[in-house]
Amino acid sequence: MSENVALLGVGTMGAGMAANLLKAGFSLSVYNRTATKARAIDGARFASTPAEAVLDASVIISMLADDAASREVWLDENGALDAAADGAVLVESSTVSPAWIAELAMLAGRRGLDLLDAPVTGSRLQAEAGQLSFLVGGSDSALKKAIPVLKAMSKEIVHFGPVGSGAKMKLINNFLCGVQVASLAEGLVWIERSGLDRDKALAFLKGGAAGSPLLGAISARMASQNYAVNFLLKLMRKDLVYAESEAAQCNVDLKTSEIARTLFEAAIEQGLGDQDMASVIEPLRAR
Ligand code: NAP
Repeated sequence: MSENVALLGVGTMGAGMAANLLKAGFSLSVYNRTATKARAIDGARFASTPAEAVLDASVIISMLADDAASREVWLDENGALDAAADGAVLVESSTVSPAWIAELAMLAGRRGLDLLDAPVTGSRLQAEAGQLSFLVGGSDSALKKAIPVLKAMSKEIVHFGPVGSGAKMKLINNFLCGVQVASLAEGLVWIERSGLDRDKALAFLKGGAAGSPLLGAISARMASQNYAVNFLLKLMRKDLVYAESEAAQCNVDLKTSEIARTLFEAAIEQGLGDQDMASVIEPLRAR
């Protein structure tokens, strides 16, 4: 019989992850706050509550917006934690704060369950292609149990250390991404107003020292104004808030994050929070 897996949250990322779990032959239950999204996952068992989704699952993955969503789905009435089967491994793949991971790990421990924090890098396309990278914190034994499930969705699994290590690594990663996207928005508006050939300028930047996979992908979306959602703009703001708070614990003042965050907040004020993060350029274009 195939292993039972539960996935809590089938938004932009969770939907692609679900498809790859099913493709790999896992018996999958899915829960999503907006039930229509869970019902749309062909081949998965629909669960109307987190508790219903996790019954019998040996690996339980959550892929939710933020700390508040994760807390609600794990701990509220009909939450996943109380209902999880003995021996299940809990995998928190949402980008959340290390403080929340520590609390959730403590609560899981009281139930005798192991938690892995395993946020991902890669976006919608990588989730759909099973090419995510998992950044993992937690015990070797818990990771060993979860590895076949994580492998079905990823190109790499990097174990950074004890619980919380994955969440910390992810925030450092997204701090660098957020600052880069914000500075790219300023640079592109500058290019557009400078008289330079925009496409030629971007091609040069992509191939030079300032280039990166992120710059390549996001500059194309900014230039074409294609804001179909790969990564919600409001979620990048959330990541920068968590990053600033976490860095402060290490006495690091993320000044560049604070400035980048003001650009994301200006875009949210203009109603762009539910569009792709590349739309952070629009308030700058309008100035
Ligand atoms: P998304 O499409 O907005 O999905 C968010 C999920 O969280 C949905 O299932 C949503 O349910 C649920 N949710 C939100 N608030 C909730 C609440 N209060 N109670 C219960 N459920 C709630 O976001 P996503 O892009 O899939 O991202 C998921 C996580 O992965 C986030 O932590 C994000 O930062 C991270 N991440 C995203 C990307 C990316 O490129 N998109 C890449 C790496 C990591 P509804 O459907 O009902 O709204």
